[in-house]
Amino acid sequence: MDFIRNMVSRDLETGKYGGRVVTRFPPEPNGFLHIGHAKSLCLNFGIAAEHPGGRCHLRLDDTNPDTEKEEYVEAMKRDIRWLGFDWGEHLYHASDYFEQLFAYAMVLIDKGLAYVDSSTEAEIRDRRGSVTRPGVNSPFRDRSPEENRGLFRRMRAGDFPDGSHVLRARIDMAHRNMVMRDPILYRIRHASHYRHGDDWPIYPMYDFAHCLSDSLERVTHSLCTLEFENNREIYDWLLVHVDAPAPRPEQTEFAPLILDYVITSKSKLRPLVEGGHVRGWDDPRMPTLAGLRRRGVTPEAIRTMCDMVGVARAQSRVDMAKLEFAIRDDLNEKAPRAFCVLDPLKVVLTNYPEDASETFTAPRFPSDGGQSGTRELPFRREVYIDRADFAETPPPGFRRLAPGGEVRLKYAYVIRCNEVVKDAGGRVTELHCTVDPSTRGGVAPRGRRVRGAIQWLEPGSAVRAEVRLYDRLFAVPEPPLDDLVGALNTGSEKVVKDALAEPGAAGTAPGVHYQFERLGYFFADPDSRDGRLVFNRTVTLRDGWARVREDGRVREAGRSAAAARAASGAVQTRPIDTLRTEAERSLFGDLVSLGASEAAAAVLVRAHDLREVFLAARAEYAEGADSIASWLVNEITRLLGGDSGSDLSRLEPEALADLAEAVDEGDLSHRQARKVMTALLQRGGSLREARAGLDLEEIGDEGALRAMLDELIAEYPEKAAAYGNGQRGLLGFFVGGVMKQTGGKADPRKVSELARALLDDPAT
Ligand code: ATP
Ligand code: MG
Repeated sequence: MDFIRNMVSRDLETGKYGGRVVTRFPPEPNGFLHIGHAKSLCLNFGIAAEHPGGRCHLRLDDTNPDTEKEEYVEAMKRDIRWLGFDWGEHLYHASDYFEQLFAYAMVLIDKGLAYVDSSTEAEIRDRRGSVTRPGVNSPFRDRSPEENRGLFRRMRAGDFPDGSHVLRARIDMAHRNMVMRDPILYRIRHASHYRHGDDWPIYPMYDFAHCLSDSLERVTHSLCTLEFENNREIYDWLLVHVDAPAPRPEQTEFAPLILDYVITSKSKLRPLVEGGHVRGWDDPRMPTLAGLRRRGVTPEAIRTMCDMVGVARAQSRVDMAKLEFAIRDDLNEKAPRAFCVLDPLKVVLTNYPEDASETFTAPRFPSDGGQSGTRELPFRREVYIDRADFAETPPPGFRRLAPGGEVRLKYAYVIRCNEVVKDAGGRVTELHCTVDPSTRGGVAPRGRRVRGAIQWLEPGSAVRAEVRLYDRLFAVPEPPLDDLVGALNTGSEKVVKDALAEPGAAGTAPGVHYQFERLGYFFADPDSRDGRLVFNRTVTLRDGWARVREDGRVREAGRSAAAARAASGAVQTRPIDTLRTEAERSLFGDLVSLGASEAAAAVLVRAHDLREVFLAARAEYAEGADSIASWLVNEITRLLGGDSGSDLSRLEPEALADLAEAVDEGDLSHRQARKVMTALLQRGGSLREARAGLDLEEIGDEGALRAMLDELIAEYPEKAAAYGNGQRGLLGFFVGGVMKQTGGKADPRKVSELARALLDDPAT
């Protein structure tokens, strides 16, 4: 419960509003809604939904004809519905209250509490004073109510040009709250309003229209962001002096959502759209709800992030990582896996027959072993892998293909790279490899460890796709409002025209999510039609800092982080700020440059045991350094607590590396991996052993069953041979063996199917 919900509950208990809960969401239709609005929507609609009879109004705060459009109103309605909220019949427009607002202004004039000021804009500004200096009364301040009434009527009749008069409240030009120094209530503006055309040459100001609209709608709790804190006084003053009916609405402020690298203001975003700096309001890089939707972010992820952030009065900046976490968490269950090769590199399998072909079956969701569907992957002598999955001189801890090395083509075979073919310019054009037939179906080879599994595609069946990769729209965490264009990240969109996707992706309709293995979560763009495939990357599989690290900028970043942050004026404590000695800071920099996140590095600096395991596991799986560090610092530390019998010294670094990879690859869900990790900490051993020993229904993975069968067959080759010679009854021997090992928890039908396949295939 946050402080606002507590307040609403209290008000219900005391009967302050007669048991009513009425909130409102009041955007000005001058642009598209953004992620900041999501917080306000979740709060206002959330509170209304939590109370019987509660309701939340959607009110378009359309009192400024210059920038408002029906198009924006429609977009707002679409986006709010998409996020999962419904205003029912309570759709209102502040502009529909213009007559009533005019009447309220007359009430103030009659009471001597409002006057027409005919000073120029500059004069009004100059006479306001400052925080330290009281203002000066306008020479028009003492006009009589009759004179003010006449002038205000003529303002309304259109008798005066823009800027010649304003209506002001008559409060106190020496008030300590600047907002109360005779605030302007109405201005003259000869412009067409998108709903009321030329009916009105005068328009009410926000402070005047807002509280009175709330009151007219009998709103109880008027929730807004902190920047309106000073306006609360005028809100209350106006309601009292126009004799608004009690109980009157009350304004409560909460901290706006502020995200690093993001701008949350419609009016500031508009020039980016109008200046053509992005593809439109719904550009996938935009922080608008429409942009996030087009990028593939789900409404559930946005709502989860708002929950995570919570509602408080204290201002804070939120890391994009929070949203990314929520996106991954949601899409992990929703986005089926698929192969997609961004930069195809030809691989010729020299020992695979020219005219042979076969089709492998892969699960849509590896963590359920294919229970919710499978996909078909044709295979031939020539396949394409991603250039990034090959390294001529592999850095330490590289788990993919290198000259003379082996790698698993996922679901197909283990291959070995024998020859690297280059063009005259020295660029690798193709690889000559051999398959290991005994590894058919992606089974691990006997007696050898093959690290790493990569995706691949057979060119004859693969489909061409355009893939759009996105990075942050702005290059700096706090883009300066006076030069947003200058702060744009020039590399925020990278378009790959000729990627290859697996055959099942052909004809994907807009709106479909995929997880392209290793690359991230993707979403079919609306441009995906008429035979064209366009995918937007929603988010990478791991956090975005990994990309910064690849640029090698991090060591320096780690070292100078504290200085940079001090300069940027950020008040939040960052991980490095918690380190006191130069030695610690230097170690921190090293760990970050090895790939640990800053938060994890700060912990590892102080925990010698964890650090040793990190370094050893990272040597096995360098790319997964951030995952490994995060496992150590978060999950493992927690599992070690208490008397669970867990012991860090039992954990083999290699098993940790394998586990981190299995999770990164999506072979294990996070929940499954936590179970496996518990076993590793209690009993030690390899990942494979730990997986095999656990509840397989839970693990649901064909790979683990295969591995067990594989071992059994290797252990009893004469029985396998006898089966091959016709003693079919021996199938039971192998199935029984697996059932025993799994404590009867595996699905016997699945095991026997697998056993038959493995035993029948002479290659095995
Ligand atoms: P503009 O730049 O035109 O002022 P805006 O993006 O600030 O636009 P408003 O129309 O002023 O949007 O705001 C509508 C509602 O959304 C207000 O109640 C406001 O308090 C809330 N709101 C705006 N930005 C945020 C934010 N970053 N976090 C939470 N709520 C927000
Ligand atoms: Mg605003």
